[in-house]
Amino acid sequence: MLRSAFLYLAGQQQIFKFVRNNRLAKSFANRFVAGETLDTALAAVARLNARGITASLDLLGESVHNEAEARTAGEAYITMLDSIHGQKADANVSVKLTAMGLDISEDLCVAIVHRILQRARDYGLFVRIDMESSEYTQRTLDLFEQRLYPAYPQNVGMVLQSYLFRTFADVERAILLKARVRLCKGAYKEPETVAYPDKKDVDANYIRGMHELMLKGNYPGIATHDEAIINEAKRFAKANDIAFARYEFQMLYGVRRDLQDQLVREGHRMRVYVPFGTQWYPYLMRRLAERPANVAFLTGSVFKEMVGKRRR
Ligand SMILES: Cc1cc2nc3c(=O)[nH]c(=O)nc-3n(C[C@H](O)[C@H](O)[C@H](O)COP(=O)(O)OP(=O)(O)OC[C@H]3O[C@@H](n4cnc5c(N)ncnc54)[C@H](O)[C@@H]3O)c2cc1C
Repeated sequence: MLRSAFLYLAGQQQIFKFVRNNRLAKSFANRFVAGETLDTALAAVARLNARGITASLDLLGESVHNEAEARTAGEAYITMLDSIHGQKADANVSVKLTAMGLDISEDLCVAIVHRILQRARDYGLFVRIDMESSEYTQRTLDLFEQRLYPAYPQNVGMVLQSYLFRTFADVERAILLKARVRLCKGAYKEPETVAYPDKKDVDANYIRGMHELMLKGNYPGIATHDEAIINEAKRFAKANDIAFARYEFQMLYGVRRDLQDQLVREGHRMRVYVPFGTQWYPYLMRRLAERPANVAFLTGSVFKEMVGKRRR
């Protein structure tokens, strides 16, 4: 029930307008979001790189309403790539197609993303196309396969979500294409007609896809904080002689930092998804939906910081 409530709140723009300038809400967001500017995000990337962790920078923002907004978001990604290259940061970027105008026009979206991919190719960088809710799955995969990947096979990858019934077939398709896949469980509120409602089925589907990608895929990103699944990935790699360099683990900024460091110590590749920007509200609500205990956790840490500041 709490999950549904937070996912419902994620779509409520009026509430975001209300909390946008609230200091307490911003302190909450800072646990999971690397500030509102590219500079704060790059500083977070530098801290991760110093811990032996690579990053994927994400400018927060979902469906845009007009062409100008989509082009502005696209230009922001060009600046991000320029900065990553200029600062020699160990990072790539993650892009949502709805932020690039998918709801306005497919051609517009493709033109903007091509410009981003072109710049990524100039620098030898990589762009991950995030996956959004199931109403976008087919369109995203079609655009990826027909209009993005053929032109930039080395520079672009996709995301698949194990909560969807269709995902194992999409895994097989991606393997045929030799496309790079990030596998995650999926973060949106989905109808039971397309997605498994039970965690045990989502997890089983994750493990099935993960095994296939680890054996036959092109450098899969195993994106999860689920320790049981991470342990299974480690066991499977060992049993099948799959080298650390053939896959990477991925986690979200601010989540399970202990486990991130542990995996690095063990010699695994670890990438952290670093979201930043002013549009942090729906992202934060999805993180709370995944783990409602985060409300208590965030409240505790915000109060600890406030008390700490008063003492100082
Ligand atoms: C790098 C990366 C990229 C992603 N990209 C996408 C995408 O493109 N599209 C998409 O739909 N989803 C994306 N996600 C989100 C993903 O789908 C899940 O919603 C999210 O990762 C939580 O699932 P889980 O695999 O960690 O497992 P869960 O079963 O949700 O959680 C397992 C355990 O992980 C810990 N945990 C999980 N979430 C949190 C949290 N928010 N705070 C604290 N602890 C937590 C808890 O200990 C929990 O018990 C991405 C996730 C990652 C890590």
